[in-house]
Amino acid sequence: MPATPQPPNPNLRTDQNRQQNPQQPNRLGFGWGWLIAFGVLLVVNIIITNVLSSNNGSTITIPYTEFKQQVTTGNVESITVTGDQIQGTTRVEITAPGGGTRSKQFQTVVPSFANPTTAGQNGAGDNLEALLEQYKVQVTAQEPSSNTLLTILLSFGPTILLIGGFVLLSRYAARASGGAGILGFGKSTARVISEGDRPSTTFADVAGIDDAKEELTEVVDFLREPQKYTRLGGTVPKGVLLVGAPGTGKTLLARAVAGEAKVPFLSISASEFVEAIVGIGAARVRDLFKQARSLAPSIVFIDELDAVGRSRASQVRIGGHDEQEQTLNQILTEMDGFDSREGVIVIAATNRADVLDEALLRPGRFDRRVYVSAPDRAGRAAILRVHVRGVKLDTDVDLDAIAQQTTGLVGADLRNLVNEAALLAASRNHESVSQADFGDALEKVQLGTERHIAQSADDRERIAYHEAGHALLGLLIPGSDPVRRVSIVPRGKSLGATIQAPVDDRSNYPEDYLRARITSALGGRAAEQIVYGVVTTGAESDLQQVTSIAYQMVTRFGMSDKVGPINFGDTDGQNPLSAQRTYSDATAQLVDSEVRRIIDECIENGKRLLTEHRGQLDDLVAALLVEDTLDQARILEVTGLAVQPTRPGVTV
Ligand code: ADP
Ligand code: ZN
Ligand code: MG
Repeated sequence: MPATPQPPNPNLRTDQNRQQNPQQPNRLGFGWGWLIAFGVLLVVNIIITNVLSSNNGSTITIPYTEFKQQVTTGNVESITVTGDQIQGTTRVEITAPGGGTRSKQFQTVVPSFANPTTAGQNGAGDNLEALLEQYKVQVTAQEPSSNTLLTILLSFGPTILLIGGFVLLSRYAARASGGAGILGFGKSTARVISEGDRPSTTFADVAGIDDAKEELTEVVDFLREPQKYTRLGGTVPKGVLLVGAPGTGKTLLARAVAGEAKVPFLSISASEFVEAIVGIGAARVRDLFKQARSLAPSIVFIDELDAVGRSRASQVRIGGHDEQEQTLNQILTEMDGFDSREGVIVIAATNRADVLDEALLRPGRFDRRVYVSAPDRAGRAAILRVHVRGVKLDTDVDLDAIAQQTTGLVGADLRNLVNEAALLAASRNHESVSQADFGDALEKVQLGTERHIAQSADDRERIAYHEAGHALLGLLIPGSDPVRRVSIVPRGKSLGATIQAPVDDRSNYPEDYLRARITSALGGRAAEQIVYGVVTTGAESDLQQVTSIAYQMVTRFGMSDKVGPINFGDTDGQNPLSAQRTYSDATAQLVDSEVRRIIDECIENGKRLLTEHRGQLDDLVAALLVEDTLDQARILEVTGLAVQPTRPGVTV
């Protein structure tokens, strides 16, 4: 039951899993493809051989003497002579020499001394012609040349077909991973298009990241009027690297630059190459740049650059060259190979600039970096305004208030929030989307979907006391984040939740504030102790949070007089307990006891406050048991408390 939901970890990379083992799954899939293709070709081959060749089941081969005998018995109806080959039809079925097959279709080879085409002239033949005439056999002669051709075709055709098939297939396989269909072979494979994609996105669609937008207006200007900038011999940056957490709007921003400048936008996602067949990434990069130059001025967008651009030094490699490295090298080659005056600008996006290969950041490549940060409160309101453009809103909707409650959410989350609210309103048959719909949608986005689990009345009451404890302390302690919502609806992993969100985004935390966070996080446990005398396992995540904050106060922020103003290295705030210690055992003991002291002081303070305000605690629980979820106004109404004034200096 977390007291405050943590913002999404910006260090999480969404393609992490796919990157872990780039080779194996791909090899497997490709192998199957070859096998199937080989099988298909083999079958086609056999069919063609059967259809084309005269050796199909119904034609039997007979000796020349047998043929002549059939003629003399008058059984042969017609023949077709092709060189020394005779094919014919009999009136009644004859039996093949080995017995078994019976057919009216037969074929035979004429011995050279009996060649029907020369028989009459050299007289050496057995006068087949006369014989045929005598028994009224219909004779058709065919050019022997066509025979030769047919023979060649018959013998080599299937082989040629087989080879051709393989060539096509290998091309197809190569291109398929590049996104082009089976017909795409041979041509460029960038996800574009002859004309390039000309996005209709503009800067008006991008909100809340004004600094980044401003930095990119220069790029837009250059693309619009390249001459203006190069007139005096200056060069414009070739490459711009957008750095920011997932969902902050990097892709959107790159498209908006193309849209503003009205130039073609050619994009690839570097993560595609991680699983690709070796050589594909480099080939696609080459094609992409070639196309971009032919369409200049234009924008090449490389998404998820870190997928191929990770520092080569930091990786354990078995082979020397692999797909990532080849792709990366090709990108570097292409970027070196053109002049920025050609009007091609490369924009790349990554959420980890720190892992990128140094070669990418060298001058003349991605030397310009634009940081796209998570939006602040005003920014979130602006982003919400962009996304509600097509949504029918109730008059009671206060986007600024929503922005205030959504600390830590980025553009993509906010778009999702608006969408969830609209869907929720629709499912409730509302005429428009209300503030309440937004509130419920936010709860869903932040905490997960409601779970319907069976709970005993005792459990519900215990959970209600726990959450009411968090909420009441959040209200009572000066300097805490305002309590926005309390709920005992089970969602995702939690059984209940108290949402506290700051009035403003803070980048600086005074000690009071951190202590207030610890105290209200311990509030759930404290309430359970006061009411029931025992605590449950539900408080585990609260304790993790408390411990993390307290350790950082002591080891990073110098908030313990005994330990002193020392920063013991970066514990990243993630897990201070497992971080490498850079201090002595004596100091470690001191740190532990100081952490202990801070937490104990907060627990005592929390228990004292809850005991003093037991009446309000009970009121909150009573309301929660009936209403499940209380919003800020209702919380204040039930407890009769006012929002704690935010102390001057608390927010930054
Ligand atoms: P990133 O590439 O940084 O991961 P995206 O550009 O793909 O993020 O963002 C996904 C979607 O979220 C966008 O298409 C847009 O609808 C919305 N979005 C993200 N950031 C913003 C923003 N700053 N302003 C408006 N919408 C945004
Ligand atoms: Zn809790
Ligand atoms: Mg993106």
